Amino acid sequence: MKATLLGSGGNTPTPLPTCQCRVCTKAREEGGKHVRRGNSTYVHDAKAMVDTPELAFETLNEEKISEVDAVLLSHFHPDHTLGLRVLQGIGLSDIPIESWVESETDVYMPRETHQKLVENSSILGHLLGEWANVNVVEHGDVFEINDVEVEAIGWREEPGNQERNIFGYLFEQDGDRVLVSPDENKNMPTDGLGHLHLWIKECGLFERTPSGTRIRSRKRLEKDLQTEMTFSESVEQVTEVDVDKVVLTEIEELYRRTPSEYLSIAEKKSQPVTFGHDGQTLET
Ligand SMILES: [Zn+2]
Ligand SMILES: [Zn+2]
Repeated sequence: MKATLLGSGGNTPTPLPTCQCRVCTKAREEGGKHVRRGNSTYVHDAKAMVDTPELAFETLNEEKISEVDAVLLSHFHPDHTLGLRVLQGIGLSDIPIESWVESETDVYMPRETHQKLVENSSILGHLLGEWANVNVVEHGDVFEINDVEVEAIGWREEPGNQERNIFGYLFEQDGDRVLVSPDENKNMPTDGLGHLHLWIKECGLFERTPSGTRIRSRKRLEKDLQTEMTFSESVEQVTEVDVDKVVLTEIEELYRRTPSEYLSIAEKKSQPVTFGHDGQTLET
């Protein structure tokens, strides 16, 4: 199977508006691998994208993607959903236009995401009502998109959540198995995943910049770690799974690291882990 990282960034993309740090400055000057747009992955065989950050319009163009038949949402957070307006580009009729909507795109999402997005009076609710065929997924659901089997794997962001509100999607075709779990991997169940050829997963947070400055105060970090995982924990999670190759995404600007610094971190790890970059195409 073939997948492309449309965006390898997180809630804080790189460059971050107004930020003058060395990482953002370099990204503005040089572009390329220094730029990280919001977290989104395109699975070519399924013609499906996982998550729609604000810059989905741009990244689809940049990667010259000509077809999107389905959108799968991992969770409701704005950095994964606010690019849903891309549905209006994907589903627009050819000229001469009779009806604006040529085809409704299949959009898969957890129940909590559905409840938050599809308020009748909300803008995204209006958009999904017109342009999408919405499917609410449950943990363990299996469905097909363009002859690729997709399994929805759900878990709770916090143990106290009433239901599984964060999802990853396992794509399988001709024995090839690719898991995309873009964010909030802390409580993700790893038992029973079987052999994976590729896992595109959350990077996890760094506590300090390369020069040793705290990224979050002690108090803030303690609070955030109730739901977030650290980079070390994310790498540790990899050891629980039989996987050939892991590519990390959700790489926040806040971590303040350059591509070459990430490269040297990955080289020191014994696990098969690398840091992704925008536009990176992966094949199994
Ligand atoms: Zn910056
Ligand atoms: Zn999130």
